[in-house]
Amino acid sequence: MYLYFGLMLKAEVSKRQDARICIIGGGGTGAAMAYDLALRGFSVILLEQGELTSGTTGRHHGQLHSGARYALGDRAIARECMEESLVLRRIAPETIEYNGGVFVAINDEEADYANAFVNACQESGIPAREVQVAEARSWEPAINHKAKKTVWVPDGSFDAFRLPLAFFAAARQLGADIKPFCKVTEIEVKAGRAVAVNTQSLCGKKEEKICCDYIVSASGAWAGMVGKLAGLDVPISPAPGTMLAVQGRISDMVLSRLAPPGDGDILVPQRGLSIIGTTQSLADNPDCILPDKKEAAFLLERADELAPGFSKRPVHAVWAAARPLAGRTSGDGREISRDFAVLSHAEEGVAGMASLIGGKATVLRAMAEKAADLVCKELGLDAVCRTRDYVLPSWRSFYKAGSR
Ligand SMILES: Cc1cc2nc3c(=O)[nH]c(=O)nc-3n(C[C@H](O)[C@H](O)[C@H](O)COP(=O)(O)OP(=O)(O)OC[C@H]3O[C@@H](n4cnc5c(N)ncnc54)[C@H](O)[C@@H]3O)c2cc1C
Repeated sequence: MYLYFGLMLKAEVSKRQDARICIIGGGGTGAAMAYDLALRGFSVILLEQGELTSGTTGRHHGQLHSGARYALGDRAIARECMEESLVLRRIAPETIEYNGGVFVAINDEEADYANAFVNACQESGIPAREVQVAEARSWEPAINHKAKKTVWVPDGSFDAFRLPLAFFAAARQLGADIKPFCKVTEIEVKAGRAVAVNTQSLCGKKEEKICCDYIVSASGAWAGMVGKLAGLDVPISPAPGTMLAVQGRISDMVLSRLAPPGDGDILVPQRGLSIIGTTQSLADNPDCILPDKKEAAFLLERADELAPGFSKRPVHAVWAAARPLAGRTSGDGREISRDFAVLSHAEEGVAGMASLIGGKATVLRAMAEKAADLVCKELGLDAVCRTRDYVLPSWRSFYKAGSR
């Protein structure tokens, strides 16, 4: 049963826990984490060095993954995407445009892939089905008329800012202290336990020490840098990708290439724009990642293959963001799983701290659930996850007067 957050009775919030948790990072993962822990009754403080969602979260493609893209490569990830996309459609309907998606085979090799693709989707719980090209083109006339095969999947799109804001709003209404423009500059470790963070407020350059019982680093592609503050070596590979938006909606559905995941193979409608993405490279530092002209030209070419005429539209923006891939690589990072990892740092000599890395925005709630379970286990507390149960408040309520 799904309940409206606003109707939640005070008694429904788990009993107050006598522990203060500090979350580093104000992207979608941190937002979901703050809500989950606040709902379990913890005292929560979240610190974000810039504006909320200013990291990768505010710059991604906005595809609500059904998991179809991952079905042939990793059924567990595909299944999780499907399950979580259903949960998000129920708890955050206001932030989601459930438009469906079409995988399009443009050549014979891609057409040969169709059966295995549909079977893998179905085995992962994704109700994909092959449809006649003419039918798919009746939904989306922009699909290349040379398409050989088309497969419907339950993909969708969501607003990259509003989804996390709905989680932030819920967390704040439960008492979480959300602090943007507050950078963690040091992590204090005493007798093998993380006990406090030192912060610098970027408004006014104020410094503050915040004591806590547990620290969760939800700092995405910056997790390696944040880990170093506690003397840790967190296995993360920042993997930048570029996206390009043109004006106008070339389709209302998500269009993808019917082929193993590659570059420039997904076209997502977002508000009044159409976005083609993405590319992949590796970077040591996730700051100041910029797209280059070659990538933009490549993306336009790839978009035209899916939907001819894309490149004729006025370009609205080209930008890049870094994926927080969980793992290390000596190659180009494609072999690293797209799954997420919750790393306890107790065995490395820093008890009371975990890093939550990898994953994707679609599974932010599930990532937070696993990490909050670990926090409870390591603190010896018993509080269950209830974030599936409530429809989140409007993202608008985050900005209500007096909320900051
Ligand atoms: C090109 C691209 C396209 C993508 N498309 C999709 C998609 O369509 N669908 C999907 O589901 N997923 C997509 N993803 C994946 C998704 O964007 C990420 O998995 C998700 O945004 C990560 O969120 P996060 O909160 O973990 O990280 P972030 O949003 O990066 O948040 C981490 C935050 O930590 C902060 N921080 C770092 N250091 C400190 C410090 N010292 N003190 C305080 N704060 C700090 C940063 O400023 C940042 O805001 C895409 C990723 C990329 C790169």
